[in-house]
Amino acid sequence: MRLLWLPDVLRAARLNVVTIDGWETRGKELAEVRGIVWHHDAAAVGASTASVEHLLVVGRSDLPGPLCQLALRRDGTWVVVAAGRANHNGYGTWGNESIGVEARNNGTGQPWPDVQVESYVSGTAAICRHLGLTVAAVKGHKETDPRRKIDPAGIDMDQARQRIAMRITYQPPTTPTTPEPGGPLMALTDAEQTELLTKVRELHDDYAVKGKSMRQVILETAQRTKDLVTGKRPGS
Ligand SMILES: [Zn+2]
Repeated sequence: MRLLWLPDVLRAARLNVVTIDGWETRGKELAEVRGIVWHHDAAAVGASTASVEHLLVVGRSDLPGPLCQLALRRDGTWVVVAAGRANHNGYGTWGNESIGVEARNNGTGQPWPDVQVESYVSGTAAICRHLGLTVAAVKGHKETDPRRKIDPAGIDMDQARQRIAMRITYQPPTTPTTPEPGGPLMALTDAEQTELLTKVRELHDDYAVKGKSMRQVILETAQRTKDLVTGKRPGS
């Protein structure tokens, strides 16, 4: 099995994705994917992105590359390193029949930017959805190999799994939502509708996790806004 769908699945989750040349054929065939393992790459703060990602491709003298299928930069960009097997979890639960993500962090107290953690959560949820895995299939390396590993240091995996679980439940709409003529959005000007849609999109994760569609949320929000404009009290 080769994970040739990785870039498409991540991009469909509205994430920034780059690929490293040769990713499609890098790594031996995977027999299966039993889980997703979160790592930090322990790279020095000042190391260049190119040198860190090159190491993930070629490996080290004691461990041949690829060292992961995916890397995650501090700005939240996903880097597809390999579509095949990678040496990231040899001694851990699931072994290397799993997807490894090496997130850029030195592992000794470097802060995790919100944008990076948010992307870690969203991308992992998208992969779980694609593979039909539950959140139980997401572990930190410190959980699959607790006697040897501490990564990803500074990330509470239980908290991360809670956030991932909400994203797995939420299905993004497949078609763009447009207001229907005569619907409640007609009470608003074009500019107001655009502003409202933008706001709702920004908030969609918060609202939509409970299984409401984007359309439902927009219509409900629009109705509330219209009620305010016409002086109707909420619930009346
Ligand atoms: Zn690790």
